[in-house]
Amino acid sequence: MRTEADKIQNFIDGQFIEPVGGKYLDNIEPATGKSYSQVADSDSRDVDLAVVAAEKAFVDWSCTPAAERSKILLRIADLIERDLEKFARAESIDTGKPLSLARTLDIPRAVANFRFFATAILHTESEAHITDNVAFNYTTRQPRGIAGLISPWNLPLYLLSWKIAPAIAVGNIAIAKPSELTPVTAYMLCEIAQEAGLPNGVLNVVHGTGPNVGAAITAHPKINTISFTGGTVTGRKVAEACAPLFKKVSLELGGKNPNIVFADADLEAAIAGSVRSSFANQGQICLCGSRVFVERSAYKDFVDRFTEKASKLKVGDPLDEKTEQGAIVNKTQLDKIKFYVDLAQEEGGKIALGGKAPKPINDRCRYGYFFPPTIITDLPVSCRTNREEIFGPVITITPFDNEEEVIGYANDTDYGLASSVWTQNLNRAHRVAEQIHTGTVWVNCWLVRDLRVPFGGMKASGVGREGGEEALRFFTEAKNICIAK
Ligand code: NAP
Repeated sequence: MRTEADKIQNFIDGQFIEPVGGKYLDNIEPATGKSYSQVADSDSRDVDLAVVAAEKAFVDWSCTPAAERSKILLRIADLIERDLEKFARAESIDTGKPLSLARTLDIPRAVANFRFFATAILHTESEAHITDNVAFNYTTRQPRGIAGLISPWNLPLYLLSWKIAPAIAVGNIAIAKPSELTPVTAYMLCEIAQEAGLPNGVLNVVHGTGPNVGAAITAHPKINTISFTGGTVTGRKVAEACAPLFKKVSLELGGKNPNIVFADADLEAAIAGSVRSSFANQGQICLCGSRVFVERSAYKDFVDRFTEKASKLKVGDPLDEKTEQGAIVNKTQLDKIKFYVDLAQEEGGKIALGGKAPKPINDRCRYGYFFPPTIITDLPVSCRTNREEIFGPVITITPFDNEEEVIGYANDTDYGLASSVWTQNLNRAHRVAEQIHTGTVWVNCWLVRDLRVPFGGMKASGVGREGGEEALRFFTEAKNICIAK
């Protein structure tokens, strides 16, 4: 298996093929700033080819017994697990994230996604409703057809498998578009799918840019289901493209997540958890807590200890085992981070840690895109830095005086993806969690995942829910059959 493929081709009808236009884009390694492979720069003609393959494959796959589908998905999970180290290395090179993170988080979670949905389809229940003495109703759930699955660069295999696994588990065909910034693990997944015996055409991957391939997928009349994860601005375009065609759409979008620390929290745990939730994957996880609120009586102690702990995070070559903070995904993202750090200072913020790109990490990474953990204090809650998604290792810390005030702060944003609350007071935990407008609230933890729970955002963070039963329902069409008694 190649982990650093020279040319990343499309995977259509079970074959790796050239894009119709014959064009490729450079695939840049974030840690070095240099191109290390080429990725297909496809367009709507490649999406058309994938749709032809998908229509053909749907005939058999949609009728394949669940037990057979399950076996193939379990095989895919086993094979990714067999090659975990290769996947982790490829993901680290492609994204800039520390190898240790790819090895312990991204790839194992991708394996878990395939296993979960492979077995979930063996345990579904059918619904029946009796209408008095009039009728008997039963509900069938059929695969919808062809699902367009569009994902971002921050957790490439993990997020794509979170969509592919449920879509094909229930008998749909997948046409996936990974971010062209991070295409390698999707390419490797196609090799695994071939080896696992997934029938040709059930999984198709079309590489390329959002405006070319993503837009062609959302506009294609035969792709009737769209699961999209990415930024809110792009999500709006996806929604606009899908609405006139009445597509079923799930949108998992951006966040500006509050992380609330009460003075009665176990501060040691809150600090350790907050360092993780602020800076994991260089802050490039949609669920990162980028706005930290600390009760005033604990504020100074928290800021001092949190800053001290964050300052020890080792920024380094992602492939170095000791590295805890790798590279930012590309120059555009690095420039965006720098822009917001400058803006924060114009808005009156003080830099308590970081704030400037570090000196070259080593010779290999001389031209890489690095930025250290950065902590900003003294900003008003309503300023742009506190309202707009930065998606990097930059967080703000703000004191608060009481529950009501911090709930107001937490909700004072267009986003509503996730939040964390740190307190030892159980009643307060429930009370606050119920009033925060986010799809997930973690209490005394962060990023704990149970695949059975609904996952998604409120407000500008998205529409629809993924995970467990929600995903199985999203990718199927419910039909009621009503028989008169
Ligand atoms: P993005 O720019 O919105 O891109 C996401 C995907 O959409 C990429 O594959 C992109 O292709 C594609 N795309 C771009 N324009 C499109 C169009 N007009 N039609 C269809 N597809 C199009 O997001 P990103 O920068 O890759 O990822 C970061 C964002 O994702 C952040 O906002 C983060 O919060 C969010 N995110 C959300 C979740 C969640 O679960 N809620 C999880 C992870 C990330 P290109 O790569 O070519 O642009």
